[in-house]
Amino acid sequence: MKNVAVLGATGSIGASALDVIARHPDRFRASALAAHRNVEALAVLCERFRPDLAVIADASREAELRERLANARLATRIESGATALTEAASGAHCDTVIAAIVGAAGLESTLAAARAGKRLLLANKEAVVMAGPLLLAALREGGGELLPIDSEHNAIFQCLPAARAGLDGAGVRRILLTASGGPFRGKRREDLGAVTPAMACAHPNWVMGRKISVDSATLMNKGLEVIEAHFLFGAAAGQIDVVVHPQSIVHSMVEYADGSVLAQLGNPDMRTALAHALAWPDRIEAGVAPLDLMQIARLDFEEPDRETFACLDLAYRALGGAGNAPTVLNAANEEAVAAFLEGRLSFLAIAHVIESTMETAPGLSIDTLDAVLDSDLTARRVAQRMIASAKD
Ligand code: NDP
Repeated sequence: MKNVAVLGATGSIGASALDVIARHPDRFRASALAAHRNVEALAVLCERFRPDLAVIADASREAELRERLANARLATRIESGATALTEAASGAHCDTVIAAIVGAAGLESTLAAARAGKRLLLANKEAVVMAGPLLLAALREGGGELLPIDSEHNAIFQCLPAARAGLDGAGVRRILLTASGGPFRGKRREDLGAVTPAMACAHPNWVMGRKISVDSATLMNKGLEVIEAHFLFGAAAGQIDVVVHPQSIVHSMVEYADGSVLAQLGNPDMRTALAHALAWPDRIEAGVAPLDLMQIARLDFEEPDRETFACLDLAYRALGGAGNAPTVLNAANEEAVAAFLEGRLSFLAIAHVIESTMETAPGLSIDTLDAVLDSDLTARRVAQRMIASAKD
């Protein structure tokens, strides 16, 4: 029996993870659930999964959660705030942690899980982008294992040999990250001037949280994934290529020196990656419909449009830059996406804000958590200035 802490339990990945967990009560138990402010959704999950620990990160909501669960007769301990979130990721109640908080808010709990030697199922790609070297050090220190949940990285993990000695040792020539192209594939800059949040969040293949949906529309999601692949698999920027594949059936590929290209295929459903990582090295049922290749009939591949979707190259630029460039990229992107979702910034200005923040924010060291947080905060302040002036 594995005890699983689901951080970001009320989100899209949280729902998929809990669906897989509920299918295998003999194997998995949700021992901790954490959310930000959505008391009602967290309470419903607590009633259903009866965890040992429930954490509401926003401390001002703790009383409401307690009141909501007062008559539920649960043995669940209710906590709130940042320390409780870290405890949810590292305490003795769990051996597996699903890191599915969105954005930089998930960094400290992700690091805590790694340091505590948990099996870390990583969906929170922003944590690895902003603090990749720290996360790798925490994993070494804790001696646990990281299994990627991002469908592309989970696919790459599945296509790499089990015992890895770095990509070169494994005869890997390059990684081919597939991208759906998002809701605006085929559009040109002049078509994107009046894009609304609702349009950007209407992804053709996946139902996801709003932040990652916008990232998918700008192709920054793929840029973040390039950086994630660099840290998770030790691949140089030049070894990671992006291929647009609109059907989202091939989740990514690994090309070997002998010309072989291994791909992982499946319906676009995050439960496949979650079931794979939860049960690894076993394989379990995930509730995902079997792949019907006759119905799909064709798989298309094309070059990404790097001119219209400038965020992809900004991520490559950050990866090529030294030190805190990925931290700055991530912070600027989070600020710009939040501003876009709140109607304070146009869709096309997202890339401008990120680029000008990267040019302006100072190069700072990121060798401790405090240094990463400092770099993140400094970049956010710069980005906010850029957003305010972009509006004028
Ligand atoms: P959602 O927006 O659907 O869910 C986000 C979750 O994080 C919610 O449970 C939310 O709680 C919680 N949260 C937000 N802010 C905080 C905070 N400050 N402290 C604690 N918890 C917080 O996001 P997704 O599930 O779509 O994405 C989660 C992560 O997984 C992201 O990093 C994303 O990039 C990654 N990912 C997602 C994929 C997908 O298919 N959705 C695919 C691959 C990766 P509350 O509900 O209370 O606000």
